[in-house]
Amino acid sequence: MQELTHYINGAHVKGTSGRFSDVYNPATGEVQAKTPLASAAEMDAAVQAAMAAQPAWAATNPQRRARVLMAFVGLLNRDMDKLAEALSREHGKTFPDAKGDVQRGLEVVEYCIGAPELLKGEFTDGAGPGIDIYSMRQPLGVTAGITPFNFPAMIPMWMFAPAIACGNAFILKPSERDPSVPLMLAELMEEAGLPKGILQVVNGDKEAVDAIIDHDVIQSIGFVGSTPIAEYIYGRGCSNGKRVQCFGGAKNHMIVMPDADMDQAADALVGAGYGAAGERCMAISVAVPVGDETADRLIEKLVPRIEKLKVGPYTAGDDVDYGPVVTAAAKEKIHGLVQSGIDQGAELVVDGRDFSLQGYEDGFFVGPHLFDKVTPDMDIYQQEIFGPVLSTVRAGSYEEALKLAMDHEMGNGTAIFTRDGDAARDFANRVNVGMIGVNVPIPVPLAYHTFGGWKKSAFGDLNQHGPDAFKFYTRTKTITSRWPSGIKEGGEFHFKQME
Ligand code: NAD
Repeated sequence: MQELTHYINGAHVKGTSGRFSDVYNPATGEVQAKTPLASAAEMDAAVQAAMAAQPAWAATNPQRRARVLMAFVGLLNRDMDKLAEALSREHGKTFPDAKGDVQRGLEVVEYCIGAPELLKGEFTDGAGPGIDIYSMRQPLGVTAGITPFNFPAMIPMWMFAPAIACGNAFILKPSERDPSVPLMLAELMEEAGLPKGILQVVNGDKEAVDAIIDHDVIQSIGFVGSTPIAEYIYGRGCSNGKRVQCFGGAKNHMIVMPDADMDQAADALVGAGYGAAGERCMAISVAVPVGDETADRLIEKLVPRIEKLKVGPYTAGDDVDYGPVVTAAAKEKIHGLVQSGIDQGAELVVDGRDFSLQGYEDGFFVGPHLFDKVTPDMDIYQQEIFGPVLSTVRAGSYEEALKLAMDHEMGNGTAIFTRDGDAARDFANRVNVGMIGVNVPIPVPLAYHTFGGWKKSAFGDLNQHGPDAFKFYTRTKTITSRWPSGIKEGGEFHFKQME
């Protein structure tokens, strides 16, 4: 059995804690590797290496730092298939979807190549007699990130690219479910020219996370994962004096107005509800048709589309719509919630419970489910299912639909499908959710905008990527300087180059 490692100070390092976690191939149910779970001492070894390397990296000018990211983009493109294959093998998502995971991370790396522009400070000339005031953005020092299983390439890159572009060292604690791609990314960053110790990967579970939260040297923590862990890390990290941003779970509603193009809405719902087996924080898990007639038309369009979905292993290439869920425990949780929906009176219109795939009977596949007549008091409405289960809540009016989205404790993303510009504008203005789609089911902003939810979907003031990331990974220093007038130096005749 393959034994995975940590990546500390430029080398693969075996785990020494004696604790390991199984890494599965979700399509077959087989254990394909084991990953070490770090102790606090192993985390400290990474922190010491980061501390030693970071000052020289911070002193490297931003253009040179950006050149490492430029080379990294080339290497990501060179190794795209290899990365996507490793990702699909551990996560289970389809091969095209795994490439998308790498691609959406790569786009943030591309954005971070603009670091010299983004890190420019502010300057006031002549704020008083002989007085100038200027501000600069300086790196924090040693930073850390903790990432979820569902985007093992994209989310680590969303964190480490801006952190490193700003001159920080970064320690990544990826999900123990699919740690191979993060290790490959760290190797590629060094191949691109990153000095040892600036990007390290320490695998682990709660013990490694607690070692990050409690380490005095670590200045900031980025977290993406479920809401209870986000709340825990945010609370304890902030009280330890760190800068913390934590992104949590979701329950994304899609409002379907009576005037919507129903074929378009149904296509969008199928992709956004069942793509990646529903294991996306921006998946649509609740459809909210406005009016019974709209609901009936929508369900009629949805059912044949859902029944046609092809569920299978990533090795089937383009011939499969979604793959297995990540673990047997995730499958069991989804089936448990489906049962609760039935018990609490929702109508199961498409029943995926008996789904089985010949030759992959031990894989963690879950068939597609569609519920109608779900009500807000039901567990399937209140909880994040994170599986291929779409719930329909019928709303009597637009105001009722808006209120549903607003009253839910999660506020990551939401969408409205309509031909009415006024309804769309009103929805976008009033709804208390971070990312809104107008006739767009999964409104994930591109790299140069920022990504983040509201309410229990995010904790902290700044979003991921875009300009916010450059604020999160730097501190502002403001200098007020006075230079009394005196004898000026002689002229300089050489045109200096930035080295
Ligand atoms: P998770 O919360 O189980 O794990 C996330 C990370 O936290 C992992 O690295 C894990 O090792 C660590 N962790 C787990 N238990 C811990 C504990 N008790 N103490 C400290 N650390 C712990 O989440 P997951 O199952 O990997 O990912 C799915 C969740 O992530 C979903 O809720 C999804 O909505 C959310 N998510 C949110 C976003 C977003 O941007 N808001 C993006 C992707 C995923």
